[in-house]
Order: sequence, then structure tokens, then C-alpha cells
Amino acid sequence: MHSAVVFTRPIKFTIPCKVCGVVGHLNDDCPYMIRVPNNVTEVGKGYEIVTFRGKRHAESMVLSPPDLADAQDWDAADVG
Ligand SMILES: [Zn+2]
Repeated sequence: MHSAVVFTRPIKFTIPCKVCGVVGHLNDDCPYMIRVPNNVTEVGKGYEIVTFRGKRHAESMVLSPPDLADAQDWDAADVG
């Protein structure tokens, strides 16, 4: 007797979320975009924690199209 168990996997996530580093959702679906936990002090590169009315959430700081993401040499310009 065979049991045909089929797991539904619409999308297989293998790349960690750029915002929180967790595998399992897209960057735009990150819960951090709605609310950042209190114990979290920093988010992924290209994102920043924004405090609005006492609540913190992550916002994308990248204004360039995703296609140009590989050309991120600008962070070498460390102005100090
Ligand atoms: Zn995330």
C-alpha cells in the first residue's frame, strides 16, 4: 500500500530574506516591513529601521532597480 503524500510547495525559498535574514519569504513580504521586533537593532543591507509614531519598521533605502543590485560599489565610498 502506497501512501502518496504530496507536499504543496508553491515557491521553494532558498535565499534568505534581505531584510531579516530568514529563509521563507520574499523581501517585500518580510514582517520587518510592518514591524521590527524590539530586540532587533539592525536590518539587512539596503534597508533601514524607521521609527514612526513609536513603532519601528524596515524601509528599503535602495532607490535603484533590483537589476542594478550587483553594481553596489557605492558602499566603498566611506565618507568619514
Ligand atoms: Zn524577512
